[in-house]
Amino acid sequence: MSGKLFIIGLGPGDAAMLTPQAANALAQATDLVGYGPYVVRAPERVGQIRHISDNREELDRARHALEMAAAGRVVAVLSAGDAGVFGMASAVFEAIDKGEPAWRGLEVEVVAGVSAMFAAAARVGAFLGHDFCAISLSDNLKPWALVLQRLRVAAEAGFAMALYNPHSGARPWQLNAAFEVLREILPPATPVVFATAVSRADERVYITTLAEAESSRADMRTLVLVGTAETKLVERPGREPWVYAPRSVA
Ligand code: SAH
Repeated sequence: MSGKLFIIGLGPGDAAMLTPQAANALAQATDLVGYGPYVVRAPERVGQIRHISDNREELDRARHALEMAAAGRVVAVLSAGDAGVFGMASAVFEAIDKGEPAWRGLEVEVVAGVSAMFAAAARVGAFLGHDFCAISLSDNLKPWALVLQRLRVAAEAGFAMALYNPHSGARPWQLNAAFEVLREILPPATPVVFATAVSRADERVYITTLAEAESSRADMRTLVLVGTAETKLVERPGREPWVYAPRSVA
């Protein structure tokens, strides 16, 4: 049997947001590889082997998956959201790039998923309807000074932002430091959304302004959206406003 490697984005959480293409790939896999909370989201299948690893061991996990595929297994590497957005797809290609020459001959299929930024933006209206960027606030794999520089130039250039990995136990202060830098550039009324566990049972979505934004609203399962001077609120009596990016900039 010839092996294959799927790299699958599972979506933000709700099983209804797992694409039929991803479900089909999961059904074909003999082996699932991923961080524990993601692997448990795949439906159980008799005979399918689950290889659960720690969240920080991405490159080792990718190499393990490639070794199994090279040995003839059908392996699915799992990520939350979209596997290509701060997910396992880059780790797999980095492992191929630096690894065994034979891995370049493997069949590899990346299956797109619904990234957290799209699920979060859809909850509040059309937050990312015009130019935007996605930035991970994690400084595990890049210097913090570079994170701040990217935030600064993105704000100056008028990009709305989706901030991934805004908070963790090991990185408690970064988000407030990011807000401080953004306050130097963007108006105080700039809309900010804290979208936590979007599409899951304990989903929380909180809409505020940059002036009021405070990191205690965020945890590891939060995506933070930061708007621009153009981002608009549509107020609704007794309900949360809609937030949208106008289609044009004067
Ligand atoms: N590949 C994933 C991102 C993985 S990085 C994707 O495309 O969505 C992990 C970060 O993603 C979390 O810290 C959080 O910022 C965000 N995230 C993932 N799932 C989320 C969800 N259901 N709700 C809100 N944010 C989520």
